[in-house]
Amino acid sequence: DALADLERDTRPGRTADGSPVPLLANVGGVEDLDAVDCAGLEGVGLLRTEVLFLGRSAAPGLQEQVDAYRRVIETAGDRRVVIRTLDAGADKPLAFVTRRGEENPALGVRGFRTVRDDPELLRDQVLAIAQAARETGREVQVMAPMISTVQEAAQFAALARDCGITSVGVMVEVPAAALRTRDLLAEVDFVSIGTNDLAQYAMAADRLHGGLIDLLDTWQPAVLDLVATAARAGADAGRPVGVCGESAADPLMALVLVGLGAGSLSMSPAAAPAVRFAIARHTTDRCRAIAQAARGAVSPDGARAAALDLLDAHV
Ligand code: PEP
Ligand code: MG
Repeated sequence: DALADLERDTRPGRTADGSPVPLLANVGGVEDLDAVDCAGLEGVGLLRTEVLFLGRSAAPGLQEQVDAYRRVIETAGDRRVVIRTLDAGADKPLAFVTRRGEENPALGVRGFRTVRDDPELLRDQVLAIAQAARETGREVQVMAPMISTVQEAAQFAALARDCGITSVGVMVEVPAAALRTRDLLAEVDFVSIGTNDLAQYAMAADRLHGGLIDLLDTWQPAVLDLVATAARAGADAGRPVGVCGESAADPLMALVLVGLGAGSLSMSPAAAPAVRFAIARHTTDRCRAIAQAARGAVSPDGARAAALDLLDAHV
């Protein structure tokens, strides 16, 4: 039946006019890689390394980290792998990183900011990633979460390059970073938009707060504007801008993201068939028109309706 056909389609992501849009996976460990294979995804767009070490009371040693990253890289075979440095804090506390007693942990020392307290932890991690890459003979891409300023991006890029990483990126998940993606891209090779946190911080709505789901909607006009600004900066700089927030898993939003200029989409593997199908049915020009229509709306529902209006009759 049609659904089974959809699930069996494991071709690379492409628009109807043949522009490649690599479909990648958000994963938390090697056990998620089976699903990546099944879904025919073209790589790992986000390895959440904090998930590898959840529940640990002491920091993992260098060799343990090398082994963990090597397993993921090896299992990914010849696919692309983007490894994110520890994003501990707020909704993902790690006992060996997280500061206790912050009043607003989501606005506190999380993600890259932990380098302020513990620069060795980040350095060890990047060294371990670089060693795992060397041992497997593969190039990996490494990015830092929760970057807010150009100086942070530059600091991370210097550290990562010093450790031997050749493709260095940062997440764009803080509005300040989205507004200044142009400047970030002068320091790093690529950026990846994290729409989960970008919505949280743009809308000042706790991402874990069930009562604020309407504000956390990534179809919010202000969130779309921030994504558009970041994507435009990538196009202007000729540097890749991907999306790794869960909004990439929404097939209609995926069309908007492609239309705004996202070069790759990383999502939960289960979302891949529907996203692949949606993209394959629409040309890049159509995606641009859909994105433009969505951005013309003044509410999330209005944006969705405007996008839906422009879909091919078959979808
Ligand atoms: C995001 O914030 O969109 C993201 C991909 O990172 P995480 O969900 O791990 O915070
Ligand atoms: Mg995030």
